[in-house]
Amino acid sequence: MTATVAFVGLGNMGLPMATNLMKAGFRVRGFDLSPENLSVWRDAGGEASESLTDAVQDAEFLVTMLPAGRHVHSVVHAAIENLGRGALLIDSSTIDVATARALSATATGHGHAMLDAPVSGGSGGAVAGTLTFMVGGAAADLVRAQPLLQAMGRTIVHAGDAGAGQAAKLCNNLLLAITMVGVGEAFALADKLGLSQQALFDISSTSSGQCWALTGYCPVPGPVPGSPANRDYQAGFATDLMLKDVTLATEAAVASGAASVLGPAARDVFAALSTQGLGAKDFSIVAQALIQGQIGR
Ligand code: NAD
Repeated sequence: MTATVAFVGLGNMGLPMATNLMKAGFRVRGFDLSPENLSVWRDAGGEASESLTDAVQDAEFLVTMLPAGRHVHSVVHAAIENLGRGALLIDSSTIDVATARALSATATGHGHAMLDAPVSGGSGGAVAGTLTFMVGGAAADLVRAQPLLQAMGRTIVHAGDAGAGQAAKLCNNLLLAITMVGVGEAFALADKLGLSQQALFDISSTSSGQCWALTGYCPVPGPVPGSPANRDYQAGFATDLMLKDVTLATEAAVASGAASVLGPAARDVFAALSTQGLGAKDFSIVAQALIQGQIGR
């Protein structure tokens, strides 16, 4: 019998992910608080539920793709009594590790199971079905989730127990935030020293300074034609979402007693961009802001 999946959060990421599940043959009942997003889903041929309760009623799976931990907490607590027996909850939002672990315990306490399965790959990867999933939870539950994750992504990595997927996501995005600020700072210095952006790219992309922020997502126009710098920093991955992630990472460092030097500095840079009204722009706009002296001087 076709499995019923309740999918909650049909935004930039959730809409294409739910669409790929539907294309793979699952019965997907979508719900979003935004009437506009719900009607886009309906127009795409999706089954739209008028309430969260309708969406989750007797569902075998619940997938959430929501902005932050408080949204996931409220949806899981509101849904938990109405899901089918022994349901599997899969949260693909990026949230804090403590909330992910607490929700996993809540799900287990109600006879369900839960995986944290945040993603990398952006909205392009969500549309193409090529996301990377970083999964925390029991191996047997991951086996059960595989058909869904394979319909939405290409690479699925079991990171460890509950919360390990979110831990991996936060560590990865901490590194990305820091390297993107570093790449921007290098371009700002090159500019002052009279070195062309293309020359710096050609040299550093094959030298010890190479990193994905430079070679895969170059934050100045030209060297990497597909990067957001070539389309006026249209997101992509919004500055405000990067600010959320690097804030979660630095808070986790404080809570766990981990050393933290560059994370807080990167967080402050993205906070400054957000304050300047650039929160909806791609986070790589940090390079332009550094080159133009909008921040960092
Ligand atoms: P989004 O803001 O486009 O979508 C979130 C959706 O959740 C919205 O449609 C909103 O109306 C809905 N929503 C909020 N609260 C709700 C509730 N209580 N019930 C039902 N619907 C509710 O965000 P997004 O870009 O799709 O990102 C979602 C998550 O994925 C975030 O945690 C983000 O950090 C993470 N993420 C995003 C990207 C990216 O490139 N955009 C990449 C990786 C991970």
